[in-house]
Amino acid sequence: RAKHAGRDTFRFFTAQMNVEMLTRLDLEKALRQAVENNEFVLHYQPKVRLDSGRVTGMEALLRWQRPGHGLVFPGDFIPILEETGLIVRVGSWVIAAACKQIGLWAHSSIGPIQVSVNVSGRQFIEGDLDGDVIKALDDNDITADLLELELTESSMMANTDRTIASLKNLKNRGVQISVDDFGTGYSSLAYLRRFPIDKLKIDIAFIREVTSNPDDAAIVQAIIDMAHSLKLEVIAEGVETAAQLEYLRRHRCDQIQGYYFSRPLPVLELEQMLREERRLPKQDDEAGTPRK
Ligand code: C2E
Ligand code: MG
Ligand code: MG
Ligand code: MG
Repeated sequence: RAKHAGRDTFRFFTAQMNVEMLTRLDLEKALRQAVENNEFVLHYQPKVRLDSGRVTGMEALLRWQRPGHGLVFPGDFIPILEETGLIVRVGSWVIAAACKQIGLWAHSSIGPIQVSVNVSGRQFIEGDLDGDVIKALDDNDITADLLELELTESSMMANTDRTIASLKNLKNRGVQISVDDFGTGYSSLAYLRRFPIDKLKIDIAFIREVTSNPDDAAIVQAIIDMAHSLKLEVIAEGVETAAQLEYLRRHRCDQIQGYYFSRPLPVLELEQMLREERRLPKQDDEAGTPRK
């Protein structure tokens, strides 16, 4: 009896595994085609300064328009791009596409606006990140300070000498560098100081409960103070409520990004928002009036 049950379990498990492997292989194949067929698109999420309430830049976020599946989000395909190494080619495309957009805005009535791009550690090691960036700036006739690169702590830890050399080269030309998801890695700030960093992005994990969890509040406050004493800018990601915004304002965070101000948007919707010159409400307007 036990043997029978065991065999059924085994059979069920194998079938399940087959489905998973098929899906994974299909996905990998579809992603290779996506690269060939140019199925990727960038959405942009604004960053807002807390002193002026104004939009100060955008983050480019990758989406995949998968035929027959609609819009696919990075959580469902970036890990596969990373594992297969396809991220190097897609990453080059992202840099080219973001710089093209920077150029379109800079040379239009919208005016110059800074855009940050997420980069994978593999782009430094297997790709030609410096070359990609320099070519893209050149092709689109834009100044380097309009581009920012976002790197996670873990991608900075891998192959550090090469990564540091690349970053220093780009930094010398004026490209801005920020540490994404700060606080979730295992690197110390002393270690990160070897990198030419301009900005820290506090991870959403610490922002979520910043107004109710005293540990998170203490960590956020410490990151802001540390950043400032090292002359770094600091931005909080994942800000969704007026209360979180208020906490960050009170503790002198420089910028925020999150659904509270805007979700990542396709270009046309974003341009609409820029034309309306949408701003964060002033401190007083906001007390007790939740938005949305
Ligand atoms: P990330 O760089 O930390 O980007 C922030 C993520 O948080 C984005 O998810 C964004 O849509 C989401 N987000 C923004 N505001 C809020 C908020 O208020 N609440 C919540 N719950 N989420 C918010 P998305 O677009 O799904 O991207 C996920 C991750 O995928 C990114 O995290 C980044 O690590 C990676 N990624 C996205 N685009 C690229 C790319 O072009 N290249 C590489 N290498 N990675 C990318
Ligand atoms: Mg990012
Ligand atoms: Mg982040
Ligand atoms: Mg994140």
